[in-house]
Amino acid sequence: MADSFDIIVIGGGPAGYPAAIRAAQNGLSVACIDEWKNHDGSAAFGGTCLNAGCIPSKALLESTELYHRAHAEFAVHGIRTSGVEMDIAAMQKRKADIVRNMTGGILALFKAAGVTPLQGHGRLLPGRQVEFTPHEGEKRTLSAKHVVLASGSVPVELKVAPFDGRRVIDSWGALELASVPKRLGVIGAGVIGLELGSVWRRLGSEVVVLEAMDSFLSIADQQLAREALKALKKTGLDIRTGAKVTGATVKGKEVVVTYTDARNPDKAEQSLSVDTLIVAVGRRPFTGGLLAEGAGIALDERGFIKVDDHCRTGVEGVWAVGDVVRGPMLAHKGKEEGVMVADLIAGRYGHINYDVIPSVIYTAPEIAWVGQTEEQVKASGRAYKTGVFPFLASGRARAMEAAGGFAKVIADKDSDTILGVHIIGPLAGELIAEAVLALEYKATAEDLQRTIHAHPTLSEAVHEAALAADRRAIDSLNR
Ligand code: FAD
Ligand code: NAD
Repeated sequence: MADSFDIIVIGGGPAGYPAAIRAAQNGLSVACIDEWKNHDGSAAFGGTCLNAGCIPSKALLESTELYHRAHAEFAVHGIRTSGVEMDIAAMQKRKADIVRNMTGGILALFKAAGVTPLQGHGRLLPGRQVEFTPHEGEKRTLSAKHVVLASGSVPVELKVAPFDGRRVIDSWGALELASVPKRLGVIGAGVIGLELGSVWRRLGSEVVVLEAMDSFLSIADQQLAREALKALKKTGLDIRTGAKVTGATVKGKEVVVTYTDARNPDKAEQSLSVDTLIVAVGRRPFTGGLLAEGAGIALDERGFIKVDDHCRTGVEGVWAVGDVVRGPMLAHKGKEEGVMVADLIAGRYGHINYDVIPSVIYTAPEIAWVGQTEEQVKASGRAYKTGVFPFLASGRARAMEAAGGFAKVIADKDSDTILGVHIIGPLAGELIAEAVLALEYKATAEDLQRTIHAHPTLSEAVHEAALAADRRAIDSLNR
């Protein structure tokens, strides 16, 4: 095997592996080094996203939503069921099979593209050299014209609630539970807390989510957030905002969590006993063992590798992409950065519009948005208009027994340019793609209004919300 490449990518997650594939497509010689090992000791490409994040969580969300609907919704359709039960082992096996299939698929893609896969640890040395320590075998020094750092992120651990891997667990642990905890605590009402809290709630856990902030989903449009809080509480999630956790102690078979309640400052510390506690208070960039002394890579005060808008570090020929650099920690953001860098290295055009990155929370109802929130637009001082269309007025949503939520379009009052789209409702994560394209092309509300949407589809909600922005909605009262 060669010891010298045009590009070496360190990290084979959704930021690193697309960088490697695009580089190979561009005719460059590439190696991708990844050290991921699963709990059974098997090595796998795909990083957090495929092994312990996006994919396994969506597999469990799908299984548990079907189970929930069998109980709560089938009767409305006239489907009589009895004795519907969940086989947790079968559910987990299905998830593991999907993950194995997808991560194995990366190796197949590498083979087809001509990427050299290297499983083990990579460390950047000065002068664009990389020390590679394979999972098995001898350490070697490789060299490259360009190195792309894509080492990802790891869960933040709370000092007051340290992981013990059994009862106090991170998101990966929460994806692997073999049985349904009767009482489940979740610290953090962020994306992970809401998605994984929903998974276990649907299977019968009593779930309490403790959120330190007074507001709920503070990064989202607050009209959307209010609707989400209402809908998620209705699913049985006991979400407590303003709850600052002060301690979590494992006592026998339970965890006693203490917290202060900002809504009742006079009240003494509250306490909550649960069987399992998921800590999901964010993730931090991971650079452990990545940078040798003298490699010259600068980190910011939060540990992210410093890069410019095109993901260049301060060191010539060294780039960094994905969760390990600034910006939202999302797989699709990392993927586009990886592709951009591989194109720039090959002398092609590469650019990312950081203002138009969609966010999706895969709860039921789903929550998705792109662009600015109403609060951000208001704060900018520009004149704006909003249009809201409730799924209650969508024939398709009604037929799907999923008529909760709404689509909301925010547009500039003068130019009519769409500034943000916010959706809570069925398949919001799919519907948002149209809005992403609209924002990318700087479409106006009128552009969306004049675009024909098939009937009856959920996408008509986005169309009608754009009409509602000019008080011209047909199928609902204009709001
Ligand atoms: P990672 O996926 O973390 O990959 C980094 C890889 O580099 C890992 O394999 C790591 O082992 C390897 N590595 C690190 N250092 C070295 C080294 N020195 N040598 C060799 N290898 C190294 N995002 C979404 O967009 N949608 C979702 O639905 C979604 N769901 C999620 C659900 C959960 C439960 C979690 C935890 C995250 C989720 N995310 C989701 C976030 C998403 O997983 C991350 O944004 C994404 O994985 C980041 O990609 P990355 O390639 O930068 O890093
Ligand atoms: P997050 O940033 O989404 O949410 C963390 C939450 O924990 C916040 O609401 C924060 O206020 C709260 N918090 C922080 N410290 C706390 C404390 N001491 N006590 C109580 N609450 C506290 O982080 P996450 O949910 O851990 O997710 C990590 C990353 O993974 C996110 O950046 C997210 O983008 C990504 N992710 C994305 C998806 C998706 O795209 N669907 C799914 C899962 C994860």
